Amino acid sequence: MAAWWAPRLGAREPVGLEKLLKQPVRTEEDRERWRMAIEEVTAEHLRDCASCDNFTPGWHRIGVDYDPDALLEEAAARAGITLGRYELAGKTNMILDDEGIRVSDGYGAPWEFIWRHRAEDDEIAVWLRQQAEADVARAQMAGVFVSDPRTEGARAESVLAVLAEYESAWRDAGKYEDLGVTDRSLNNRAKAFKRVVRLLAFGYRYREGWQEEWKP
Ligand SMILES: [Zn+2]
Repeated sequence: MAAWWAPRLGAREPVGLEKLLKQPVRTEEDRERWRMAIEEVTAEHLRDCASCDNFTPGWHRIGVDYDPDALLEEAAARAGITLGRYELAGKTNMILDDEGIRVSDGYGAPWEFIWRHRAEDDEIAVWLRQQAEADVARAQMAGVFVSDPRTEGARAESVLAVLAEYESAWRDAGKYEDLGVTDRSLNNRAKAFKRVVRLLAFGYRYREGWQEEWKP
């Protein structure tokens, strides 16, 4: 998420009277220091803040209204940077919540997700779900007179139930792990389910699409 902010440092062209102000010149090194500082400050924020709006648990906003907010200013200070006035476009915002991370790149820009909290993004879980769903469908086609496909279908339903649990565990915890923001919030339940999904997928290893590196 910090990587989204980095290139915005010093990138905005001044307009109108702003051209009269001295504009800071930024180097790649400045951007990298700022990125690391944002990561650090955001991790602290996620640890300490239950909600930025006091109503929606786990809802956080980082951004620029007319001026950058305290988090961006703090990150700049830690990176040894003084943010220029108007250096970041007004209404550049990022929201982190249960759905993922979405951004709006300045006044009037549409919101776009740059990352979503979804267990479906786990390629092993995606593949396993496909196998289990295919089994359930096959069992339904076979009807009630052949018992084996029914067993296979019932077992596949169990796999789908585990995948649903995995998805909810993933949602509840460890949200920002993949972003390098923090692993403090990663809870063991999600980790355990990830392992379980891997073990279950191993049971489907003779199917097409199985990859050796998924071996538990
Ligand atoms: Zn917050």
